[in-house]
Amino acid sequence: MDKIYVTRPSVPDLQEYIDEIRSCWDSKWFSNMGEKHQLLEKKLKELFGLEVTLFSNGHLALEAAIEEMDLPAGSEVITTPFTFASTTNAIIRKNLVPVFCDIRSDDFTIDASKIEKLITPKTRAIIPVHVYGNVCDVEEIESIARKHDLKVIYDAAHAFGVNYKTQPVVKFGYASVMSFHATKVFNTIEGGAVFYSDNNRSRNYDLIKNHGISDEENIDYPGGNSKLNELSAAMGLCNLRHFDENLVKRKELFEEYKRRLAGVEGIILPSENKETESNYSYFPVVFDSFKLSRDEVKEVLSKNNIEARKYFYPLTCDSSYIREKYDVCDDDLSVARFVAERVLTLPLYAELTKDDVNRICDIILGDISEGFNV
Ligand SMILES: *Cc1c(COP(=O)(O)O)cnc(C)c1O
Repeated sequence: MDKIYVTRPSVPDLQEYIDEIRSCWDSKWFSNMGEKHQLLEKKLKELFGLEVTLFSNGHLALEAAIEEMDLPAGSEVITTPFTFASTTNAIIRKNLVPVFCDIRSDDFTIDASKIEKLITPKTRAIIPVHVYGNVCDVEEIESIARKHDLKVIYDAAHAFGVNYKTQPVVKFGYASVMSFHATKVFNTIEGGAVFYSDNNRSRNYDLIKNHGISDEENIDYPGGNSKLNELSAAMGLCNLRHFDENLVKRKELFEEYKRRLAGVEGIILPSENKETESNYSYFPVVFDSFKLSRDEVKEVLSKNNIEARKYFYPLTCDSSYIREKYDVCDDDLSVARFVAERVLTLPLYAELTKDDVNRICDIILGDISEGFNV
């Protein structure tokens, strides 16, 4: 049987993509905010009702969003360790100090009730993550930020298509950052974007991503290069057309997983927020006193050619380059540690079938009649 991966990129038919990029060959324009870049930015602006600046990937979009705040070096940023390395690395690479806050046990986002006690005179910002597309406690975070004059940047890398109280979730915070990496629900192969409401900031982000170039004769900022190229933007234009149909497919698979796994002893599924419209991007499962440990489940799936991933283990604060340089208050990270040690993300992508989901669940639950490797 073919290997089942934890995720696979959604892509258009090859012909659709070829048709989309033909004009690039005609114009010989492959980068520098060409036609495809402009059109994708415009479409995303319309879709989200926000300002959008595209970047070559999500990580550099996050670095740009941090850089644009222009905080003093050494400022502290309260963030979550239950995320992809990129979130923490971006903070460090912009010369700021990550301060790790615990997460909630029901949806794995930052525990807002534990933020205030981490605030010091050096704190300037909060960078929470809408992890797996689960929406952070945006109201509480906003009220803490206002009270202490902090800026909030959401790492919304997983949150394309997620709405909260009928609004795109990227409307919250000073800025939100998405990743359009091939493994994310909407992809431009590599790509990312910063979403924000104040159009005066567009210039800042453009300078950061394009060498600080204001015009032909003026360089006004020590910018770098993190522009999205035309072939990636064209991929985005194609994938945007199919996002909704893929969402329907992922929802069906998500529901099938739930039907099989909800209520099983030892299996905890993240709670669903009634105010949230999900993008069904990931299916994380916490195995706590299940008959198999998380690692054993991963192993038995792997023997059956099915790849599940320990998203997110280890916690980002446990890497040695962080431990050596920053204070990590382990006592206060008990929920994050509990989840990281037990969570496994199961395969979920539009091309997966319901039969695949059932086979995966059969293996996990041990309803193995024939043909499985144990
Ligand atoms: C994918 C991801 C990023 C980085 O995005 P890239 O486009 O891969 O650079 C940042 N944060 C989180 C939580 C992610 O999952």
